[in-house]
Amino acid sequence: MRSPILDYLDRAIEQTAHVAPGAPADYIPELASADPQRIAVAMSTINGTVYASGDADHHFTIQSISKPFVYAQAIEERGLEDVLARIGVEPSGEAFNELSLDPDTGMPRNPMINAGAIATHALLSHGARPADERILELFSQLAEREIEIDEAVAASEAASAHRNLGLAHLLRAAGALDQEPQDAVDGYIRQCAASVTVRDLALMAATLANGGVQPNTGERLFSRTTTRHLLGVMTSCGMYDAAGDWLTTVGIPAKSGVAGGIVGVLPGQLGIAVFSPGLDAHGNSSRGVAMMQHLSEELHLHLMEPA
Ligand code: GLN
Repeated sequence: MRSPILDYLDRAIEQTAHVAPGAPADYIPELASADPQRIAVAMSTINGTVYASGDADHHFTIQSISKPFVYAQAIEERGLEDVLARIGVEPSGEAFNELSLDPDTGMPRNPMINAGAIATHALLSHGARPADERILELFSQLAEREIEIDEAVAASEAASAHRNLGLAHLLRAAGALDQEPQDAVDGYIRQCAASVTVRDLALMAATLANGGVQPNTGERLFSRTTTRHLLGVMTSCGMYDAAGDWLTTVGIPAKSGVAGGIVGVLPGQLGIAVFSPGLDAHGNSSRGVAMMQHLSEELHLHLMEPA
């Protein structure tokens, strides 16, 4: 029998479809041709049951939604102390690609903005196997299927990566990057070009909601303390310069990506993922934000609201 949850999600899609989609990102040329009318939503319980509606099997690149997972991987591999010595946890209130480092410490302010994410990626470049390979392996374990890189998007971003290269050079000059700027940016761009669906992202988020254990395989991918730390950072920094607005209206730890995805994590309850390629002024999916607001309101998901 068809679950009533699916009917609910179908209705949520209909109720969000009137929101003006905005334009897809065009600073990565390959993203500019995305169809702004697309919209998808998926929810996964912490038992790993996924409910999805809309363009739920459409593939798009993970982009900045990769950042929290790679950050958790860096903490697992390098230890929290090591990571905190390189990357802060304070909200920057700035756009995702701001050319900024903390003037007092010379470090990136947090791992959710590009400066911090490039430094995080470089922390994984110590092993025998390339960081992007190990990152893809992690994404595959989280999503329970083999995640691949969208090579066209990776190449397109690499051909126009001047801003991220500028950031990586700043990091290197400040002593916050152990890798060559070009290598760190190349690897970071590949991490961002992992191709996913909202179903994948809902399961990835459900692993965080489940304290770091992938619900279906039972595999512990992140420790409880790593997961808790990460969710704190997502809460304060995940939506960039819209973080305060997001926390008051939606109230769910989240991370957005410039291809139009957003994940939300309700600890102990749900992983949520939405997708629509048109963006608002902060680089967050316009319809995605509207959909998350709608779900939070209707289902009383706001963390600050008593159940
Ligand atoms: N790869 C993108 C960039 O570095 C990710 C940005 C994002 O999703 N906000 O510009």
